[in-house]
Amino acid sequence: MTGSGGVAMDVDDFRSSVESWLDDNQHMLAPEYPGSGTLDQQMAQLAKVKRSTYDAGWMRMGWPERVGGLGGSTLMRAYLGEALTTRGLAEPGLYSMTEVLAPTMIEYAAPQLAATVVPALLRGDETWCQGFSEPGTGSNLASLSCRAERTEDGWRVTGQKVWTSLAQYAQRCVLLTRTGTMESAHRGITTLFVDMDSPGIAVRPIETMHGVDEFSEVFFDNVEVPFARTVGEVDGGWAVAMDLLPYERSTSLWHRAAFLHRRLQDLLETAPPGALEPAKLGEVTQLLYAFRARSRATQHRMANGERLGPETSLDKVMLATAEQAIFDLAADTLPSEVTIGDDPTSERWRTEFLYARAATIYGGSIEIQRNIIARRLLNLGSDR
Ligand SMILES: Cc1cc2nc3c(=O)[nH]c(=O)nc-3n(C[C@H](O)[C@H](O)[C@H](O)COP(=O)(O)OP(=O)(O)OC[C@H]3O[C@@H](n4cnc5c(N)ncnc54)[C@H](O)[C@@H]3O)c2cc1C
Repeated sequence: MTGSGGVAMDVDDFRSSVESWLDDNQHMLAPEYPGSGTLDQQMAQLAKVKRSTYDAGWMRMGWPERVGGLGGSTLMRAYLGEALTTRGLAEPGLYSMTEVLAPTMIEYAAPQLAATVVPALLRGDETWCQGFSEPGTGSNLASLSCRAERTEDGWRVTGQKVWTSLAQYAQRCVLLTRTGTMESAHRGITTLFVDMDSPGIAVRPIETMHGVDEFSEVFFDNVEVPFARTVGEVDGGWAVAMDLLPYERSTSLWHRAAFLHRRLQDLLETAPPGALEPAKLGEVTQLLYAFRARSRATQHRMANGERLGPETSLDKVMLATAEQAIFDLAADTLPSEVTIGDDPTSERWRTEFLYARAATIYGGSIEIQRNIIARRLLNLGSDR
């Protein structure tokens, strides 16, 4: 069974069926480029894998039927992401974007809009980006100033976003705009779902420390957005953002554990005899398994219909800590590969080491996550 018959499967059946389908189709799904490939290649690979798994039904499992899904437990989404990442069929960071953006769109967008656009995202026909951060607004998101003015039939948006991952590939953007006064802070924000080919949008890619144009500056100059593209309530965009960020900080990162596990195995196999310090290896393994256990519990909470909230800051801290520890261990164990090696294997270790630095920044910095844990979970004082 491919799962395309419109009947939700049992999670264990899903897991074994998807693995055997991937075994049969591994050759067709495998990347056609050597090594990790360029970002263009990774994006094309992701689209290919999403299309194939969507058409076979797997990518539709665990998503509501009203948005083109086949229903069933959300755990199936987690298993699929894990299987694709473990097999090296999808770059884990790029794969995350669906799990970051789609759940909130399904919850807050008008049903007709969600029913039209979510299937295109799941099938890899579209890429979406997340327009939250601005040059003066990262950690303090409620101070954002990209402005949306009401017009007769919609909104006119003017302002700038920055660090917008994959904006140069995106057909759509989940955009936070200021619709109230600056003093109204989080009460004057509205979320819009914007077509990236709208007149007045300019995208300027920025190269990351690891040498990839992963994110961009995005400029909005009197961009017209239909009113039907308002996501959630007018001036209620803060609730949308607070719904989305927990996915970004937890469930969207689940399959990253599978990727990190694979890279730790690679390190064990590559390390020269005696180069791996056992105590450090033990510590790193413990961090990785702790993250995985935490992340598993969060996946089960989502599957049980619980609303995710500030407790997901713990998942994010644990992921970032484990990821950096693994690549720090790689740098200690393979110092010349990580620093100066110019063969594809060394370049991959170096790239991943550098990208791991971003793990304590994207989705909200680690200091901010610790503030949330201290204030909102441990009740250790207010935000001011
Ligand atoms: C790889 C990557 C991809 C990203 N993709 C996206 C994306 O797709 N969309 C998007 O909108 N954004 C994206 N971002 C941006 C990211 O969300 C922000 O970088 C992050 O929220 C931090 O904001 P900032 O860069 O403005 O830093 P700032 O907020 O200026 O913070 C600078 C430093 O000060 C610390 N700090 C700030 N306030 C406090 C405080 N109150 N207490 C303690 N310490 C504090 C921070 O922890 C940080 O160390 C991405 C970032 C990266 C690295």
